[in-house]
Amino acid sequence: MTAAQKYRGRFAPSPTGPLHFGSLVAAVGSYLDARHHRGRWLVRMEDLDPPREVPGAGAHILHTLEAFGLEWDEPVEYQSRRSAGYDAALAQLERDGHLYGCACTRREIADEGGMPDGAAVYPGTCRNGIPPGRQVRALRVRVYDSVIGLTDLLQGSVTQALDREVGDFVVRRADGLFAYQLAVVVDDAVQCISHVVRGADLLGSTPRQIHLQRLLGYATPEYLHLPIAVNASRAKLGKQTRAPAITHGHAVGTLMQVLAFLNQPLPDGARDASPAELLQWAAGHWDRRALPDRRHRTAPKIFQQAAPAGL
Ligand SMILES: [Zn+2]
Repeated sequence: MTAAQKYRGRFAPSPTGPLHFGSLVAAVGSYLDARHHRGRWLVRMEDLDPPREVPGAGAHILHTLEAFGLEWDEPVEYQSRRSAGYDAALAQLERDGHLYGCACTRREIADEGGMPDGAAVYPGTCRNGIPPGRQVRALRVRVYDSVIGLTDLLQGSVTQALDREVGDFVVRRADGLFAYQLAVVVDDAVQCISHVVRGADLLGSTPRQIHLQRLLGYATPEYLHLPIAVNASRAKLGKQTRAPAITHGHAVGTLMQVLAFLNQPLPDGARDASPAELLQWAAGHWDRRALPDRRHRTAPKIFQQAAPAGL
């Protein structure tokens, strides 16, 4: 198999709102890395959490990708249609003894060993069965005492002792929804994704995903975690920080800002190119070694925060 046939990348947005500068960086970064390596690029809609979704946001995101010349190679996958695959993975984990039901509430876990930042390491309360009279709420996967390590193509060596830093983690939530960690691992395997290029906010999830890949007998893809775009207060751009939606009107100018954010070169006369032409040039000149190897980078000011409404 040639490298060209082997490289399969993806962009996996959640349809919780329109794309903002930070999500566009992840889209463009994953697209250019795939195209530079003559690979395929897929789009997967991570629409697993209906309460958080905004009607029409998925279609809007796809329309934005098209307007920016970001063309995907296979039909868009929707996680909301993939329940059977996630159930099968849960059944496999259960059969192999890696799964158990947990009756704990968030509050109980926090009381028993919560971390100061609110992220609780699960203390293993229900590992050997739930207390009498209690109901199973969530399903957890066991972690073992090995340290999980990876060499990220940009961030370098990352290790995590899952038992001390995370604990047995949830794969089906108390509300019945599949957990992100499970769905993403199953989908990356089913879609034969070879390279995951995404924001560094997900770097801390990667050891859990590798743990699940090993338990399920899946290959582990290569990872490249791009710096996430932050505002002046170092908060990630998003709905919470009122990051403005990416508009289609100035696609080339916006793409130039994304390329600058990623320390990539720009051609002479970039401004006169179409989005597709600029992307084609950028794919040819894509240079992983030039990428900023940190986890955060401040976004250009105009992409940081929308003007308050009604003023
Ligand atoms: Zn529990």
